[in-house]
Order: sequence, then C-alpha cells, then structure tokens
Amino acid sequence: MKKRIKRIYQLFFSEKQRIKNRLLFNQTISVFYRGNTCYCNCCGKSFRKFKPKGTALTKRENAECPYCGSLERVRNLLFYIENETGLLTGKFRLLHFAPEWCLLPVFKKAANLDYITADINPDLADHVVDIMDIPFEDESFDYIICFHVLGHVPDEKKAIEEMYRVLKPEGTALIATIIDLNNPHTFETDDADTPQKRLYYYSEPDLLRLHGTDFDQRLTQGGFKVEMIDYPSVLGEEIKRKYVLGDGKRELIFKCVKN
Ligand SMILES: [Zn+2]
Repeated sequence: MKKRIKRIYQLFFSEKQRIKNRLLFNQTISVFYRGNTCYCNCCGKSFRKFKPKGTALTKRENAECPYCGSLERVRNLLFYIENETGLLTGKFRLLHFAPEWCLLPVFKKAANLDYITADINPDLADHVVDIMDIPFEDESFDYIICFHVLGHVPDEKKAIEEMYRVLKPEGTALIATIIDLNNPHTFETDDADTPQKRLYYYSEPDLLRLHGTDFDQRLTQGGFKVEMIDYPSVLGEEIKRKYVLGDGKRELIFKCVKN
C-alpha cells in the first residue's frame, strides 16, 4: 500500500517538484527542531539538533539542517567560499555540478556572478550536462564546484579532463568526494554490480568507487595543481562543533587550480 501511494505520488509530481515539496514540508516541520545548539550558515537558522543522514551502515545522527537541508560538507564549503574566495562579490563565471539546493539562493543573490547549474538529471539543474562531455567552450569558467560527483561517474579521468578544459587559466575547481581515510588507494571492484553490493563495498548504493587518500594524485594527473584543505580545522573546534562540520571523511576540499 505504501509503495503504491509512493508510485502514484511519483506519477503526479516531477523529481524537481518532489524536491520542492520536500523542502516546503521540511521548512514547515523545522519548528519542532527550534533551539540554539546547532547553527546553519546556509539559511541562518539555529536548532536544538540537526536531522540524521545516511544509510544504516553510515548513519550520521546530527547532519542535515531541518530547514534548508544543508549537510556538513555544504556548510563547510560556504564558510570556505565566503572567507577564502571572492566568488560572492567578484565578477566570475561559475559552473556548479549537482548543485546543492540550499546554496542556490546564496549564489543567485550574488549580483556579479554568472552562475550556471549542471546535472545529468534535467530536474536537478538549469543545464543537462554529462560531466564526461561538458557542452561548454574551452577556458570559459573561472570556478567550478563539483562536490560528491566523481565517485558516481563511470569515466572519472575523462570528467577531470573536461573540468580542466573548460576552466580558464588559473581558474579553480573546488572538488570533494567521500574518502576512506584508512585506504591509501581508491577502491574499485567489478564485483560491485548491484546497488546492494555497492552499498557493501563503497558505503553508498550508487557509488562506483570509494576514493582513498590518493584522490589528490588522481586530480593532479588531470593537470591540476592540487591543495587539500581541511577547512573545519582552520575554523577551529568551536565553529566546527557549533555548525556541525563533520569528521573530515566527506568534507575535505580539494582546491584544483589550472596551471
Ligand atoms: Zn539551513
């Protein structure tokens, strides 16, 4: 019965509308989370706790903003962008892959920013873009944001080459992925051929690999000058705790500058 209701709901509403409905619903019930323990820099609100996120194997109890849906990595990214780049004030062209919806109002408010969102799913962004074959000209962007995409892409090398191609010289890609901090090598196996096996091997059912601490080298091989940034450590323990900025497994920012 529950599955049938879900199917009917999916028939009547596009994925884009379902996301909007969920956001509206979450915003309405976020009053039950009211408090002053956790803060979200994306929507500017505070709560007694954040919502849990993840699968049974990887559940994080205090992760998602009940109002705007921001996760640890997104709050961390916004701190980094505000403090360390001129992206929100300068005249730049930004290509944002798999855009986090809670950041859309932030970027759309930046008057000087030429902001372009991209996703393989037409419901999730303004432009339908296969990151392995980006339909934009060479050297046409100042910045790219690509968070938690490369683990899902069949040909990661091609995706990195394409991002390098469309960036202007000295342009910057801010990239993040899930990292197994205990493995020096990115793990991929042909045995992971079902969602259940991918969940077992990679911790998420739609991941195609689990990156190890060699992720920076994979980006360097694409031509980038890479800096790995543990920004919560820069911000300090108090801000890290107050804004719940994660444990470093998902939040490391790889700043990739085109040489
Ligand atoms: Zn929020």
